[in-house]
Amino acid sequence: MSGREKQAPGVGVGAARVRAGPPGGASPAPARRRLEPGTRIQFLPGIGPKRAQLFERLELVTLEHLMRHYPRAYLDARRFVPIAALRPGELLTVSGTVRHAAALRTRGGRADFVATLEDDSGTVGCYFFGQPFLARTLKPGVRVVVSGELDPIERRLFNPLFEVFEGDLEELLDVGRLVPVHPLTRGVTARGMRRAVRLALDAAAAAVADPVPAEVARAHGLGPLAEALEQIHFPDDDARLATARRRLAFEELFLLQTVLEVRRRALGEQGRGLSLTGSGALVRRAIAALPFTLTPDQAQALEEIEADLRAPRPMHRLLLGDVGSGKTVVALLAALHAIEGGLQAAFMAPTEILVRQHAATLARLAVAAGVEIVTLTAATPTAERRAVAARLQAGEPLLAVGTHALLEEKVRMPRLGLAIVDEQHRFGVRQRATLAHKGVIPDVLVLTATPIPRSLALAYYGDLEVSRLRARPPGRGRLVTRIAGEQKFPQVIEFMAREIGAGRQAFVVVPVIEEGARVEHRAAEVEFERLSQHPLLRGFRAGLLHGRLRPDAKQQVMEEFASGAIQMLVATSVVEVGVDVPNASLMVIENADHFGLTQLHQLRGRVGRGEHRAVCVLVPGPGAGALARERLEVLTRTDDGFAIAEEDLRLRGPGELWGTRQSGLPRLRLADLRDEPLLLETQAAARAAVQSDPRLAAPEHGMLRETLLARYSEPLALALAG
Ligand code: ADP
Ligand code: MG
Repeated sequence: MSGREKQAPGVGVGAARVRAGPPGGASPAPARRRLEPGTRIQFLPGIGPKRAQLFERLELVTLEHLMRHYPRAYLDARRFVPIAALRPGELLTVSGTVRHAAALRTRGGRADFVATLEDDSGTVGCYFFGQPFLARTLKPGVRVVVSGELDPIERRLFNPLFEVFEGDLEELLDVGRLVPVHPLTRGVTARGMRRAVRLALDAAAAAVADPVPAEVARAHGLGPLAEALEQIHFPDDDARLATARRRLAFEELFLLQTVLEVRRRALGEQGRGLSLTGSGALVRRAIAALPFTLTPDQAQALEEIEADLRAPRPMHRLLLGDVGSGKTVVALLAALHAIEGGLQAAFMAPTEILVRQHAATLARLAVAAGVEIVTLTAATPTAERRAVAARLQAGEPLLAVGTHALLEEKVRMPRLGLAIVDEQHRFGVRQRATLAHKGVIPDVLVLTATPIPRSLALAYYGDLEVSRLRARPPGRGRLVTRIAGEQKFPQVIEFMAREIGAGRQAFVVVPVIEEGARVEHRAAEVEFERLSQHPLLRGFRAGLLHGRLRPDAKQQVMEEFASGAIQMLVATSVVEVGVDVPNASLMVIENADHFGLTQLHQLRGRVGRGEHRAVCVLVPGPGAGALARERLEVLTRTDDGFAIAEEDLRLRGPGELWGTRQSGLPRLRLADLRDEPLLLETQAAARAAVQSDPRLAAPEHGMLRETLLARYSEPLALALAG
């Protein structure tokens, strides 16, 4: 807290700066009583049980809670000026003496308070709405510091920040500094909160135990925690605020990464040693028989997977790549490894129709390897189902393709060595746990077409390894993306009619604009009607697909579109996890600005899967501004899903875009998930700490362990108990 500097009050801009004495030095502050950080708020001077209850609404119970109640913003009220220099449009601070003060009653019956403030340069009026009780504080003769914006018409300050000035500028909390703006609740004023936090810091900041081990703090250049807590609430200057913020963000991310690392290791240790020992001959044969060569990205991903498969601990790996980047082939080759090792492999997809598509693709690819594919879904006839289940139960080394039913039902795969899960979004953390609780801990490979930005993957999937397919396989149909305003819609329809006339098919995607399924399906229905009736399109068959349809109806529409019986499919974004319709060459996305870039990118991945040139037309909604259009332009320029995801993250922040909520991890308060360097740094620190002490049992990890157990409950407790 040393070295705080402030301009002297009342002497105007550019006046000599005064340096304050040591903290607590000559100031008339009350003697500081040391308390434990765990002390309840009610024991702070001036806060009894009744006021403490108000704080509890914000889940602030102890002094440490108060100290961890970080401001959500700061008001920069550091510019001291003479009263005569006050002007509208700027938050300025003056220091003076109260001259006149009076409570008054408005015609409406409200009790207000006015005071006139004076310094050497002049006077200014201050008007406080509904606060007649200020008469007790702002009495004539009292010296006060006031921060506010001058009202341009009345030339006075309305509801300014103020603080009675007792001689030491160092002690100012509410004015004349970077003023913290804390989240509040009814009954707790901004001033009250600042005072409570101030008291808590004075009483207990030095005693807050640091969950970041001393050695880590040293290695990463982190200053004392107490100073960070002080500076995050009452920063001396911007630089010190930034340092404090980084320090506390480091702590948040370090804790998060430690949890992920503990989980990762715990999963690893549960392994029952089904490591693969096959020679790889089967895979080589299959690769040789492919009608193409693997891309370098595919080859590398396969290598990474193979290394995991051979390792004694179970794999938990994400395979990230755009639709069409060639994940399925890689997954199949991984499955062949398992099968060659005498183990079973399961390939799970979210929908019935995807299961059938995968099974067909896999069967085609697996012929050369002589591996048999069996399918199992809710629609499999009972007799066949029994037969398949019996073979699986007997431990035959098969590749079973199915919906998640494959997991959740009573299908036993005692020799399950590799579970492949398509589409991360439908397969949450919970299912991952289910798999682990089936008694076997197979290797798990999750395929996802959601191009999670690196930093988010680090933050939320730090317990998973990640392989990426960045470059697409060559020789596939080109996809061109264009933006067309409403006024160009007739041309879009003409183009659609030509494409369909030439034997192609088209998607028309309508976003869910308002909450609620009602609105969603109305929008799609209206568009379906409009297009089916359109003179140019009347001759073709259109289908309608939205979230309110029954599953079998959905399935039927999808199948008719896949078979070509329907040429034009009007759909809400349910097509996202859709099927492969190589003949579809056009996608029109209406009100495109209502989608995130990543979602748009995924949607358009549904076309251009065949040999034909494909087009995606983005139609911005009527309310789309220049900014929204600019955002959409990104899609016309690049086809790199990862680049698009990064851009989306930059523009819109993490939010729930990538389904991060399902990760079951806490919200971060200070850390910015876009800060990749800090994420990497904390991950490295966490990995080192857990590697040296997997159960965090060493004394120097005591506080870390305690903090994690308090925050992350049982799954972690299990892992740490070991
Ligand atoms: P994803 O599962 O990532 O959506 P797929 O595995 O379905 O992608 O591959 C998309 C298409 O590209 C398939 O038709 C597949 O046969 C083909 N493909 C995959 N890898 C290659 C490659 N290395 N070279 C050429 N075509 C490939
Ligand atoms: Mg796929």
